[in-house]
Amino acid sequence: MLPIDRHAWLRTLLHLGLVLGGGLLVGLALDQVWPALTLTALSLLAWHYWRLHRLLQRLATRQRLKPQGTGVWSRLDALLYRGQLEMRARKRRLLAMLRAYRAVATALPDAVVLVDRNSQRILWFNEAATPLLGLRYPRDHGRPVTDALQPLPMASWLAAGRHAEPLEDVASPVDPSLRLSLRLLPYSDELWLLLARDVSKLLRLEHMRRDFVANVSHELRTPLTVIHGYLELLDGDDHPEWGPLLSEMRRQSQRMSRLVEDLLTLSRLEARDQLPEEEVAMASLLATLRREADALSNGRHRIRVEDEAQVDLRGASKELHSAFGNLVSNAVRYTPDGGEIVIRFSRLPDGGAVLAVHDTGYGIPAAHLPRLTERFYRVSTSRSRETGGTGLGLAIVKHVLGLHGARLQISSEVGVGSIFSCVFTADRVLPRQAHSTEAAAP
Ligand code: ADP
Repeated sequence: MLPIDRHAWLRTLLHLGLVLGGGLLVGLALDQVWPALTLTALSLLAWHYWRLHRLLQRLATRQRLKPQGTGVWSRLDALLYRGQLEMRARKRRLLAMLRAYRAVATALPDAVVLVDRNSQRILWFNEAATPLLGLRYPRDHGRPVTDALQPLPMASWLAAGRHAEPLEDVASPVDPSLRLSLRLLPYSDELWLLLARDVSKLLRLEHMRRDFVANVSHELRTPLTVIHGYLELLDGDDHPEWGPLLSEMRRQSQRMSRLVEDLLTLSRLEARDQLPEEEVAMASLLATLRREADALSNGRHRIRVEDEAQVDLRGASKELHSAFGNLVSNAVRYTPDGGEIVIRFSRLPDGGAVLAVHDTGYGIPAAHLPRLTERFYRVSTSRSRETGGTGLGLAIVKHVLGLHGARLQISSEVGVGSIFSCVFTADRVLPRQAHSTEAAAP
């Protein structure tokens, strides 16, 4: 008990004693002790009930009165008053914080929409949601988000919930020239946060970059072909002193042609959202890969093809051939003479399929693996150039696989070798047709 509480109790007991003593004295004076004492006790009880009633009323009406007096009732008043003041201060602080958060969300250049997860209705949105998504107060407050954001493909997207992939490039419902990137953040069990960002400028820049690279590559193609043609015509035997010079010039012009072709291939892939889909006869594709590997290796490696999957793939033949060809070419180029290369096509337990190129080559230090598919990223620039690499092969592979909903897995150990695996999902796997099996026969 606090000393102040003890003091209040003492005051109250003193007060009780004085009142009862007063009653006793009056009783003695009137020679009516018991009636006088009973009357005093009843008055005391009535007074306490009255204080209790006042307290209840104050609590019910949330009245704030400065406490007066020193008894236990006044002490209770004082404690209540303090609690009320603290509560008010806390409420003010919370309100200030809430206003600050709202101000931040309102000032954001991105549209922020708060959606109730169960009813999928809009609970709140910031100012940017008006120019970007066309939402308006009070019309859209409480509306189902799928209605309010039509024609955006919200229904299927929201159905994916926590696993919804961001929609990277969708037209705004207000202005189709505005391109938006949409993200869904399920930040609690009841609420979803929908974020929309204007990416028109970014996409325009990306288009400009893509067009620029494509145009430059295209423009370089013709002069390079001409130079290449003339260099082929020049005979080193006519001018023996030019021999080494001519062969170096031929080598470099071939390298430039390969670079331009790879850049054009990448630009073409980047410009597409989808590739034509056909049945890719894997037996004949594996046979072609083997022939190409043999030609490139020229007997320097042992090369094996293991067709364990006995299925075909649904996709774009030309592009898949280019991707697998790049992996095979890398395996030959980065494996020293006498090494072994295995091209294995196998099934996965989930129904998918994997085309893996194993080699017993130089291997790649783990630190390089995450960046290997970046354009012009090379572990060893000199080794890549010596073997005629452009630094774009794996970037092309990644793009082709991405357009097939497939992924590239790389595992490697320095001095032991590498495995580059193209992993296809079950929906890309088709039963093998009889004619494609025949094509595989040697
Ligand atoms: P490049 O034309 O230089 O081969 P790629 O994009 O095909 O370009 O490959 C990028 C880099 O990855 C290569 O420069 C090489 O360092 C490394 N690399 C690719 N495949 C292999 C492999 N099978 N073994 C070892 N290193 C490899």
